[in-house]
Amino acid sequence: MPQIIDGKQISAQIKDEVKEKVASLKEQGTTVCLAVIQVGADPASSVYVGNKKKACAYVGIESLSYELPEQTSQEELLSLIDELNNKPEVNGILVQLPLPSHIDEDAVIQAIDPKKDVDGFHPQSVGALCIGQPGFVSCTPAGIIELLKRSGVEIAGKECVVIGRSNIVGKPMAILLLRENGTVTVTHSKTRDLKEVTRRADILVVAIGKPKMITRDYVKEGAVVIDVGIHRNENNKLCGDVDYEDVAPVCSAITPVPGGVGPMTIAMLMYNCVRSIELQ
Ligand code: NAD
Repeated sequence: MPQIIDGKQISAQIKDEVKEKVASLKEQGTTVCLAVIQVGADPASSVYVGNKKKACAYVGIESLSYELPEQTSQEELLSLIDELNNKPEVNGILVQLPLPSHIDEDAVIQAIDPKKDVDGFHPQSVGALCIGQPGFVSCTPAGIIELLKRSGVEIAGKECVVIGRSNIVGKPMAILLLRENGTVTVTHSKTRDLKEVTRRADILVVAIGKPKMITRDYVKEGAVVIDVGIHRNENNKLCGDVDYEDVAPVCSAITPVPGGVGPMTIAMLMYNCVRSIELQ
């Protein structure tokens, strides 16, 4: 049986480490504060925002909540971000995505002060990551590196294949694996003979957004498989991009859905909030 990489346990460990850091900063007179902005009332976004606020309360980070109506204009949102950029007591700013279609997401991401960009989506954060400078790293891929390291998976020298090239998962994932000295291949919807490429992977990171697409014929015997996908099936049960039952028996380690990558994203957001104190 493969090793089940336990994201619940590892994320709890990271949150406890952050909690200790926040307490010791408090003793030195420094509080950590995250501003969370949600535009509209998309139910999934409301769940994510609620979970982020709960995590803040657990680790002792103050959270300011801005729930703006769906019809909020881009100018109004940009002016709120500007106000928060200039508030020294606010360390991190998070705008929950997706935004309503009349708002340009790129303009909003670029308006956030890179020193408060706890999601790591600002072009300056992405650029810093590419050239190995200090900055915020996108939470989901940063969480995956923690999962691998804390589960004893060696990355250096390994064949790492990432499926997906999105700005928030695939691309930063590839750069982080490269930074850890993996030999990295990025695949995507235009990749020819995907299976032939993925079967080379010692570490396979799957971020496609297609339920259970990856079956055992994409996976080398003994590979480590990280499933980023989250989907709800017709019975309201969660599943990933990987067909877990089919793939688990052939790999050496695998993340389940739920309880794998999912919980890591919020834990790393908490980590980034504390890191904002260092970067500021
Ligand atoms: P996306 O839709 O932005 O990107 C999907 C990528 O998959 C694209 O780059 C595309 O080229 C590639 N792709 C699509 N079809 C393909 C195919 N047939 N073969 C090879 N590549 C193909 O998605 P995303 O934002 O990167 O998210 C991916 C998945 O991860 C989604 O299920 C999303 O819900 C989930 N997700 C989870 C977390 C978390 O915290 N666990 C965070 C972000 C995203």
